[in-house]
Amino acid sequence: MSSTNTSVDGSSVIADALVQLGVKHIFGIVGIPVIDVADTCIQRGIKFISFRNEQAASYAASIYGYLTGLPGVCLVVGGPGVLHAIPGVGNASVNHLPLLLLAGSSETHQIEKGAFQELDQVSYLAPHTKLSARPPTLDALPKLLEKAYRTAYFGRPGPTYIDLPADIIKGKANKNGIPSITYPGPAPRTGGDPEKIAQAASLLRDAKSPLLIIGKGAAYARAEEEIRAFQAVAKLPFLPTPMGKGVLPDDDELNVSAARSAALKSADVILLLGARLNWILHYGEAPKFQKDVKIIQVDIASEELGNNAGDASLGITGDLNLVVPQLQESLKKLGISGFSNGGKLPNKLLEVKTKNTQKANLVEQNTVVPLKYQPVYKVIRDIVQSQSRKVVYVSEGANTMDISRSSFPLNNPRTRLDAGTNATMGVGLGYAIAAKVAEPESLVIAIEGDSAFGFSLAEIETAVRQNLPIIFVVMNNSGVYHGVDPVRYDSVQQNPLPSTALGLNTKYHLMAEAFGAKGYEIHNLEELEASVKDAISSNQVAVLNVIIESGKDKKLEFGWMASTKKAKL
Ligand code: ADP
Ligand code: MG
Repeated sequence: MSSTNTSVDGSSVIADALVQLGVKHIFGIVGIPVIDVADTCIQRGIKFISFRNEQAASYAASIYGYLTGLPGVCLVVGGPGVLHAIPGVGNASVNHLPLLLLAGSSETHQIEKGAFQELDQVSYLAPHTKLSARPPTLDALPKLLEKAYRTAYFGRPGPTYIDLPADIIKGKANKNGIPSITYPGPAPRTGGDPEKIAQAASLLRDAKSPLLIIGKGAAYARAEEEIRAFQAVAKLPFLPTPMGKGVLPDDDELNVSAARSAALKSADVILLLGARLNWILHYGEAPKFQKDVKIIQVDIASEELGNNAGDASLGITGDLNLVVPQLQESLKKLGISGFSNGGKLPNKLLEVKTKNTQKANLVEQNTVVPLKYQPVYKVIRDIVQSQSRKVVYVSEGANTMDISRSSFPLNNPRTRLDAGTNATMGVGLGYAIAAKVAEPESLVIAIEGDSAFGFSLAEIETAVRQNLPIIFVVMNNSGVYHGVDPVRYDSVQQNPLPSTALGLNTKYHLMAEAFGAKGYEIHNLEELEASVKDAISSNQVAVLNVIIESGKDKKLEFGWMASTKKAKL
């Protein structure tokens, strides 16, 4: 047998391994030395979504992990490519999303010589990943890739990193010496400790004012069926976190989102499914919560139990898919058949919910120009929710994101992708692209603050080139948080603009047209309605530049951060 028949190059080994793992899409940007890797993957049938900046590519890969439950793969060059992709690693780490980052790196024999794009990427990424490694040889690579892929989504999800040195990519090995690998299968599940389950059930039984809180861990876990079955029996007032929305339908009577503060404050026992007690939940602490509230944390990660107002002795470690049915069984054993008085909210919560809902409905009727957020969202909602397709909302910004949370009720899990645990601005374009890649049949609509949209403008070209019809709605108030009075732009020499101001009514729709997307400039609700309908029926990438009121120069407050007690120094 001749040696050429049995030899295989590095790019083929990497591509074959990714095919064997079942990878369908790779997000990234190529350059030397990873072009061959990407092109070999494309030849093997993997779709390569090539971006304009690694930041957006890495965000895309991280949220693809959330949407599919398997690692999003991101391929970049070394040095600056890795540095630009670090946002996605940080995002996957802080949000606990499975991500596998692959990057080219300089040749092994050039280490510490100042080689082309040389960076010690393994050390750089080690503190921020579950695994960060460089293969010693080409034949070691498949198993290492399999381990990195598996590690990203087994246990508590997170990012992993594999270094691809140029000499390994370009190197050759004997085919017979390359091990073949396989898809590791779904993440193994563990059930909860039966004693803790029984304890939780009795705590709930004895509660005066129990509350169920659902986080994005429940959405990621794909535990909606289990949680819906549990809730059909338990009938607890419930509150989703921003990305936990849709695990239980938002339009359910027991949803207390519209009475959030009252619900948090009145709860004496809380069942917390897949959410951390971080700033999003005010640490579970007073004054937002009762001082002695009992919180039953259910989390796949034991180290989460006991954090902040959590009590480790009440918490349950395990996968929600197993723990929730166990809890249901335990409630049944105690003879509990529903908490909320046959599915009705306590009067006080119902009153607040009704009042707040009426208030919100009223704001939506306002047709004044320049437009306000709520009426814009109502028009969009009425059109997109009348579609028979599943809708995935991406949303980022300050008011843009906050107001959209209540304006777009969800009935399906994983249909709201927002700035997440780190309130990261600039994720939206990558997220929307990933959503359309993962779910081509869904209508993907990204509702973007103008500042947030600006982080990755060039990715509109990516969406056009990859033929990913996404609707981008830019809520353009010419500023970060808010704009300034338009007359201020006439006297900037004497009176400089504040740091929050952006260009006045920037024509994002024209930029979209330059990239080959459809652009719409919108000032009133009639234009908005016509544009949304046209954008949907044209089935092309669309950018709706909605000019809204600039907002007032007022002291900025951020409701979510309303402080808990400061520690005494
Ligand atoms: P949110 O932003 O909605 O508050 P977080 O990201 O803070 O949600 O918390 C999600 C939690 O869900 C994480 O602590 C994570 O460990 C947990 N989690 C992820 N997958 C599972 C699972 N399958 N079962 C239980 N918990 C999970
Ligand atoms: Mg703005």
